[in-house]
Amino acid sequence: MNPLARRLRRVIESEGPISVAAFMEAALADPDHGYYRTRDPLGREGDFTTAPEVSQMFGELIGLWAAVAWRQMGAPAPVDLIELGPGRGTLMKDMLRAIEGVPDFRNAVRIHFVETSPALAMKQAAALKGSGHAADWHESFDAVPPGPFVLIANEFFDALPIRQFVRTGDVWRERLVGLGDGGFGFVMGDVCEAGFPDADDGAIYEVNARANEIATAIARRIAGDGGTALVVDYGHAGGVGDTLQGVKRHAYFSPLADPGEVDLTAHVDFRALAGAATAAGAMAFGPLPQGVFLERLGLSQRAEKLKENASPDTRLAIDLARGRLADPQAMGALFKVLALAPKNAAPPPGF
Ligand code: SAH
Repeated sequence: MNPLARRLRRVIESEGPISVAAFMEAALADPDHGYYRTRDPLGREGDFTTAPEVSQMFGELIGLWAAVAWRQMGAPAPVDLIELGPGRGTLMKDMLRAIEGVPDFRNAVRIHFVETSPALAMKQAAALKGSGHAADWHESFDAVPPGPFVLIANEFFDALPIRQFVRTGDVWRERLVGLGDGGFGFVMGDVCEAGFPDADDGAIYEVNARANEIATAIARRIAGDGGTALVVDYGHAGGVGDTLQGVKRHAYFSPLADPGEVDLTAHVDFRALAGAATAAGAMAFGPLPQGVFLERLGLSQRAEKLKENASPDTRLAIDLARGRLADPQAMGALFKVLALAPKNAAPPPGF
């Protein structure tokens, strides 16, 4: 057992089973042993790959999306370009390269990264070298100074802790993490209020309170300061289902084994996010399938352009990357895109 697992075991032995959210929070964000605090998990050598790591086209298109969204806001200058969970900084680097062609936006942006991992913050700083842009880092969205903004979050919300509730007969109980034989196992908690209408016996309903709080905070600032946000993640438009999953070295891994050494995620409930944002005074657009969104922004045209002067190997790689980002059987359908904008704003590009 690793040190974090030993500590969680002692907690459960003395205080009883803990929520899935408490387990996830410790596994991902424990200051000493948390998965995101201790490593760069991305890329071929790591545990998983994200859209900006698949192809530069993703960040380039989103950079131009941001420039148009900014113009729709009335082109405020300066404007904060905020990214939640920037990973290796690849998305921001590709966005900044693309907006070199839009000088008024390029000169207006002030970059703010919301990141809790010191290891990844170093990579983000390295990614910006040579871009001519400086950045500020913050531990949370609430710490970003006020002002009009364009915000991007790719695969950020799926890393926030969820609680799970199970339909058992006529009632709902919280699904908790207790001790099983040799390791951790799911156990049933007390009857509770949470639940989802018309669910079958055994159905699991997930609540991501942190995600909803952050969406609320973003929406309040959109309503107050003016802003546009783009949330990209894998997820669904509401309903039931167990989506807690562990990933290690590009393969599924038991979510309860080896806490802190395995990436844990849950699908994003876009209906809940949009609902929280709307209640807080913003307007929500989407969710759209990622493939549809990227094609509307010109993914295929961009791919053709990049292929013009490329070697046959590179041309093939560009076609494969386009397919990975946009084909429904790859990332094109499971991944979804939600935009948040001020009430009565025109739809942001792509929506
Ligand atoms: N957006 C990047 C990385 C996705 S991985 C990409 O698409 O490649 C998730 C990112 O969110 C990492 O940078 C991780 O360190 C960060 N992160 C995870 N939990 C966080 C939290 N609670 N607050 C801030 N950042 C967090």
